[in-house]
This record gives sequence, structure tokens and C-alpha cells, in this order.
Amino acid sequence: MTDLVKKISEFEKLSAQLEPTQSERNQYVEQVRDFANDFINNIDEMDSFFGTEVNADKLKVSKESISLEKALSLYDEEVVKTGISAASGGHIGYIPGGGIYLSAIADFLADVTNEYAGMYYGGPGAVTIENEMLNWLKEVFRFPKSSVGNLTSGGSIANLIALTAARDKHGIKNEKITSSVIYLSAHVHHCIQKALRIIGLEDVVVREVELDDNSKIITSKLKELIAADKAAGLNPFLVIASAGTTDTGAIDPLEEIGTIAKSNNLWYHIDGAYGGFFIITERAKNQFKGIEMADSLVCDPHKGLFLPYGLGAVLVKDKEALFKSHHYTANYMQDAFQEGMPLNPADVSPELTKHFRGLRMWLPLQIHGIGPFKACLEEKLYLTDYFRAELTTRGFEVGPEPDLSVSYFWYPSGGDENDFNKRLMEEIHKDGRIFLSSTKVHGREVIRMAILSFRTKKQTIDTCLEMIDRCLAKLI
Ligand SMILES: *Cc1c(COP(=O)(O)O)cnc(C)c1O
Repeated sequence: MTDLVKKISEFEKLSAQLEPTQSERNQYVEQVRDFANDFINNIDEMDSFFGTEVNADKLKVSKESISLEKALSLYDEEVVKTGISAASGGHIGYIPGGGIYLSAIADFLADVTNEYAGMYYGGPGAVTIENEMLNWLKEVFRFPKSSVGNLTSGGSIANLIALTAARDKHGIKNEKITSSVIYLSAHVHHCIQKALRIIGLEDVVVREVELDDNSKIITSKLKELIAADKAAGLNPFLVIASAGTTDTGAIDPLEEIGTIAKSNNLWYHIDGAYGGFFIITERAKNQFKGIEMADSLVCDPHKGLFLPYGLGAVLVKDKEALFKSHHYTANYMQDAFQEGMPLNPADVSPELTKHFRGLRMWLPLQIHGIGPFKACLEEKLYLTDYFRAELTTRGFEVGPEPDLSVSYFWYPSGGDENDFNKRLMEEIHKDGRIFLSSTKVHGREVIRMAILSFRTKKQTIDTCLEMIDRCLAKLI
């Protein structure tokens, strides 16, 4: 017995290092606080793009332990100062990130107390916060109280969950797969295609509905396709619209598509991962008419609410459809199932144990209130106007009036314009002050702007314009 106790005590001493003392904790927090302050205080001067080289050797797990100071300097050199600076207001390519501070504080709290947010039984407070966040989203998007939903790691998983519910509601399996039809726009986010493969629907018939000049689904074409497919004995079951495409920010005609979906008994899914939260603005809210008709809806608080990466959301009206794939009881979980308990996140998601991510949305909403979020989104819409107007005065061509804050432009250089604009894009990436991305619209190489970071201000756009002037001057 004494041997046993001795052994335990040896291991106890070693493992005790996992619980730092209060003074060690204070040192850690101070060092990280200083790092965070330096980062935020200097972010406006920092480049937005650093190229893609990382010294992987430096990031290998080291044989000997290193100090936090050393770890932070590695983090700064090899992580913060590489790639796109997603927290920077100068990130106006792809779909920008955010990273509001109170979410970081919330993550810290959630991690220290390590709340269990998978099942109500284990973390009733944590799960209630997550469910309240979903209730708030139901209000924002005019979904009925009876709908259910989930806070996911991002928009991709949120879309996956919604499409799984659509599949299960319509019983798309076995021989039904190859005769069932999905309607979507060629501009849906690629996570939709990925989700279809993952959930076994790779072989369904997918119809890309023709788009108008503003890259929106033409509803008369949608109707024609559905009628033709029905006449051919196929099984139309799902239509997917975007409330803000990633490519050009276009909002499909949500209400008309909703009416078509209803009259043809199709599941109606709307992907609002990029654009959804603009519904809270005065300026854009009317464009979201019909969003409440969806059977399932995705939004991405780590885009439109400026949260740090790691929070998407899905709402689904039909609880049974959602439960079909995700609800599960196991003997070892019998304590956790009691009649009348609130919704368990694990019953509507592939995840069981998960990060308590609801807190990173709850805390900023509680402390800032909704006002600053709304103002920030309005600001982004007006900054888009400003940017486009300034580009036009500089001789650039701009794409059509955007629905939201994604737009594009190109320089009419004469000669091989695609080549010219590609080279202009390269110069901009080499400069790195502000990060823009490119895309192809109707065969034309264009430079794309996506203004969504809470840190993108008029000053950022002015810096961007100076940068563009400089890059253009090098080419002409
Ligand atoms: C970003 C985006 C997604 C994917 O969301 P993630 O959070 O990156 O997984 C899906 N749809 C649209 C429209 C998006 O903009």
C-alpha cells in the first residue's frame, strides 16, 4: 500500500503543474493582456496581408517546455504576421472576419469554467444561454417561436445541418436519390456542394437556375424547371436561395422563391451566412422580405455580428425533421433524458460535447446592446457607396449597384483587360496594406471588395484608395 501511495504522490507532484498558482495565472494573463493591447493598438498600422510563408519547424512541439513569452513571440512571428490579418479592418477580400473583444473575454470565461453545452442536464445555464441566442435569432429573422436551431462552429456546418433536415423531411434515400431534384444558383457557397456529398446526396439531380444580370435567381426559370422535372416524373424537393451570395453579395428574390417553394411542396433553404444580419439595418431590411418563409435558414455571427471565428447558426422550423438524424439516446445518457426538458444542442447537431460558444455571442450583445451592431452594419453599406464612388472618379468601372457590401471593379485599360486587372491584383497583394480578392464575373477578371469587418472605417477605404492609385501607377 505504501508503494501505491508513493507512486500516486510522485505523479501528483508532476501533474500539479497543470494547475498554475494564482501568481502564475496572473503572470499569464498579464502577458497575454499586454500582447492583446499591443495587437489592437497597432492594428490600423499593420499590414492586412503578409504572404503565406510559415516556418513550420518553429511551431513543432518542442522537446523542452518553453516560456509563455517565447510562445507569444512565436505566435506573433509565425501566426499573426503571416497570411491575411483577419482581425484587421483592412481585410476587405473574401468575406472579412471580425473579432470583437468581449467575445474573447467570453471565451476565456467559458474555457475557465468549462461549461458543458451539449445537454441541458449537464449545463442548464449554458444551454439556456444558447437557446436564448437562438430565440433572439428567431425574432431577428421572423421565425416562429416553435422553430429550433443550433449554434454551430460556422456557416458550413449550419448549412449541413439544414440540408440534412431537408433530406430527412422528404425521405431522400436509396433509389429516391437519383430522381430527386435540388434547385440552386451557380453562386451558392461551395459548402452546399460539400454538404450534399457528405450527407449522401452526391447523386441527386442539381439544377442551376439561370441568373439575371445582378446574379439573382430568375424565378420564372425556376418555375419552368420545376414543372419540367415534375412532368418528367422526377421528385423536386429542395430549393436553395442566398441572402447575400459570397461572390457578389446578391440577395435572391426571397419572397417569390418562397411562394414557388410552398406551391410545389419544396423545402426552402436560405443561406444568409454572409448577408443575413443586414436585416437589422434600416437601409437593407426591405430586401429580406420573404426570409421568414424559409424552412431553414443559416446565418453566421462570425461574419455579420463581427464575432471571432467559430460561430455560425441554423434555424429550422420542423423540429422532427431535425431530430431524425441527430436525436439519440444511449444507456449511458439515461439520466440526461427527462420529459419536458428544454432543447439539447446535441439533439440537433452532429456534435455532443462542444465549446460553449453561445457565451461569445451573449456577452457582447448584453454589454454593447444591439445598437452598435446595427450602426456598424449601416456604416458598412455607406462605406461601400463611398468606395465605389471614389473608384469611379478614378476611372475604374464598377459592377452593378450592390444589394449589400460586396461589389467589384476593374480598370478599363484597353488591350488585354483581364491580364491587366490580374496584374493589378498581384500588385495589390504585394503591397499588402489592404487585402482585396479577385473573382470572375461574366468572364471578366474583376477585383472584389467585401466590407464587413467592424474595424473597416472611412480611413481604411482612403488608405485602400491610395494603395490602388499607387499600384495602378506602376502599371500604366
Ligand atoms: C462564409 C459562407 C459560408 C460558409 O460559412 P463558414 O462559416 O465559412 O463555414 C456559407 N455561405 C455563405 C453565403 C458564406 O458567405
